[in-house]
Amino acid sequence: MCEVHRHFSFNRRQLGALFAGAGGLALLPLRARAADIEALALTCIDYRLVDDGVKFFNSIHLTKEYDQVALAGASLAAVSPKFPSSNAAVWDHVVIAKQLHHIKKVIFLDHRDCGAYRVAFGKDFAAAGEAEAAQHKGVMQQAKAMLAQKHPDLGCEGYLMALNGTAEKLI
Ligand SMILES: [Zn+2]
Repeated sequence: MCEVHRHFSFNRRQLGALFAGAGGLALLPLRARAADIEALALTCIDYRLVDDGVKFFNSIHLTKEYDQVALAGASLAAVSPKFPSSNAAVWDHVVIAKQLHHIKKVIFLDHRDCGAYRVAFGKDFAAAGEAEAAQHKGVMQQAKAMLAQKHPDLGCEGYLMALNGTAEKLI
């Protein structure tokens, strides 16, 4: 059922009358108009941090200002050859978010103890501390460089979330 039906319960004849008059345009729901929002957020899928992710984006004043893609590894999903279908999904959605909502930047929200990083890096996986942050930062810089190549008009930020929900800015 379309938005107009749900909100106003007009029948087909009444709808026709509504849109026949130019004045009807003013009654279009706000959501039907093109929206401009700040960002596309790329997060991991990890169940432990879904709620903290929302809280984090609220805390940086992005409530209802971001589209979201969740793929294992977050920034890693954009660049790792281990996850080719994720790579494609990320870059497709950057284009979609630009077309639909005219985003201004992409935000990577990685997290510590990430299973996707463990898979991709194998024995070189950095499990904690500064080494782990550095590993995420390296991947984010790769993803940022690829973004700059594909979409030089978009900004980029990257954060690393700890399992307690606190986040640090890496790029
Ligand atoms: Zn993860």
